[in-house]
Amino acid sequence: ESDTAMYRAKGAGRNQIAFFEGAMQAEVEQRLILERDLSRALDLCELRMVMQAQVDQDGTPVGAELLMRWTKTNGEFVSPALFIPLAEETGLILKLGDWVLHQACEIVNQLRSHGWMFPVSVNVSPKQFRQQDFVEKVRDILSAHHLSGKEFVFEVTEGLFISDMQETIARMNALAALGIRFSIDDFGTGYSSLFYLKRLPLYELKIDKSFVQDVPGDANDVAIVRMILSMAKHLGLRVVAEGVETKEQATYLIENSCDCMQGFLFSKPASFQDWLGKQGPAC
Ligand code: C2E
Ligand code: MG
Ligand code: MG
Ligand code: MG
Repeated sequence: ESDTAMYRAKGAGRNQIAFFEGAMQAEVEQRLILERDLSRALDLCELRMVMQAQVDQDGTPVGAELLMRWTKTNGEFVSPALFIPLAEETGLILKLGDWVLHQACEIVNQLRSHGWMFPVSVNVSPKQFRQQDFVEKVRDILSAHHLSGKEFVFEVTEGLFISDMQETIARMNALAALGIRFSIDDFGTGYSSLFYLKRLPLYELKIDKSFVQDVPGDANDVAIVRMILSMAKHLGLRVVAEGVETKEQATYLIENSCDCMQGFLFSKPASFQDWLGKQGPAC
């Protein structure tokens, strides 16, 4: 009897394995298609940059983050949460990253011509940052657009600090010498070592939206947000809370002297033209 039961279990197991193999194969195929399409996206002009305001406690824009958008020629929208990690894994991010930097320069020049003087934040992925010639590349792109590094904040994630710390610090310092400021994106979700905070040339911390989402209701998130705010204050760093969606969140953040907020409550990511339409010229 136990033999029969075992036989049955094995049979069921085999079916399950076949099922998982099928699902995995479909996933692999989808990934390959996405990878192929992404490698053509730039040439097909399927990519564009949008910007999202970062506002101070009065709601005045004091910064803007640039975010990539990919709409395939067939109309299909692909989320950056899906294609950015893929671009990072395949190395395509290097080509995309160069393009983003050029776009960022053009947007800064457009903003300036409409009187907006705030710095523009650009996401820089770890692989992009680790390029041996990254500093020279940035310097060349800036000078091609007649811009100083002072116009930019580079958002990097904690993943950058897992390895090659000496090299990372040296490169950050070289970029800081061009005027570029650094922000730690999604702060608190990655490898958080308090040690690196005092060794790096930092300007800003961005509180990840997963912590912002449940304030002021969730006691744990409240504790984390307050801890980040007080630590940043002592270290002399600016703080941006990301993913601010409700008045309650904003009120809580302002009461706890958070400098700057970004989220759907204030504005959704939009093209420069739409942004200008909504905000108007600065002067
Ligand atoms: P991130 O840098 O942390 O960007 C913030 C994300 O939060 C963006 O998602 C933005 O659209 C979203 N967001 C803004 N306000 C709210 C809000 O109130 N509620 C919610 N739920 N979400 C909000 P997005 O645009 O989908 O980008 C996802 C991630 O993809 C980014 O996270 C960033 O890591 C990466 N990414 C986007 N553009 C670029 C790029 O040009 N280069 C690189 N290397 N990475 C990029
Ligand atoms: Mg970011
Ligand atoms: Mg972020
Ligand atoms: Mg995030």
